[in-house]
Amino acid sequence: MKALAIDLGGTHATCGLVEDRKILAHETLDTNHAKSLNAVLPGIANVLRRLVKNNSLALQDISGIAVGIACIVDSRAARPLATHGKYDDAGSIDLCRWSREKFGLPLRLENDARLALLGEYFAGAARGFSDVVMMTLGTGIGGVTMIEGKLLRGKHFQAGCLGGHFPVLFSGRRCTCGGIGCAEAEASGSSLAAVVSDWPEIASSALAKYPDIGFKELFAEAAAGDRVAVAIRDRCLKIWAADAVALIHAYDPEILIIGGGVMKSAEVILPAVESHVHQYAWTPWGKVQVRAAELGNNAALLGAVPLLREGIAEQNRKAHQSHQ
Ligand SMILES: [Zn+2]
Repeated sequence: MKALAIDLGGTHATCGLVEDRKILAHETLDTNHAKSLNAVLPGIANVLRRLVKNNSLALQDISGIAVGIACIVDSRAARPLATHGKYDDAGSIDLCRWSREKFGLPLRLENDARLALLGEYFAGAARGFSDVVMMTLGTGIGGVTMIEGKLLRGKHFQAGCLGGHFPVLFSGRRCTCGGIGCAEAEASGSSLAAVVSDWPEIASSALAKYPDIGFKELFAEAAAGDRVAVAIRDRCLKIWAADAVALIHAYDPEILIIGGGVMKSAEVILPAVESHVHQYAWTPWGKVQVRAAELGNNAALLGAVPLLREGIAEQNRKAHQSHQ
């Protein structure tokens, strides 16, 4: 099956042409200054057409378009339900109609982390597993779930995908979701600067010299032996590990996959989370495997084919039911 995929990130949109487990071509658009989804759709349409044409294909060769977006999504109606300041107009745009009118193709929309998990399941670290939790450690913390080979979505499409908002500290920081002490508020790229600047001994630390602190600097200074950096890094590792245990207790996976930009330090993160999980997760059946995600930014694109196949299967099931 050949498909088009669009990964709508915070600062860019990656468009891809995929065939089953292979990305035939892709192109990334800078959308950092885009005010609305409406403003970027014409550029995306041009890129999609170019990808098809440059690969000597026609739109009739393509089975559909899969779109991932970083918000809670009503995947049945292909509508974003809650955006966070980026693409706030997306909820009022009928993307299925856009796809039909521009390309004559069916379109499916899904939360970007769920689409990435489908990619890892189809072509990456979760291949061969049916029960999977994926954590994404980056600017935010994502957690998405697959149970018995199916994405967990739930009544309001938020089941299994709010792992970053499990409270890890009841008296902790206020989170962007409105909660208190969420993992994302305590140990993510978006909260790290506040954690560092509030640290009691920060003035004596090499971290004080960075105006814009990220996990790269934190892990580098910790590796160099800075005491405060080691303490903050280890606190982050404990929070991620506690979040992992909570996800395992909630969803009963056989494998936990960890991805995201922070995994550039996978050699420190993986063994720390794995040993905590193996010690503290209550899994009398055995040990949950802990692995790094394999596909990086390609994961969402490679989730396109299984997402479209799921839509086709759903339609067939409905057609079959209506004949009975
Ligand atoms: Zn939260």
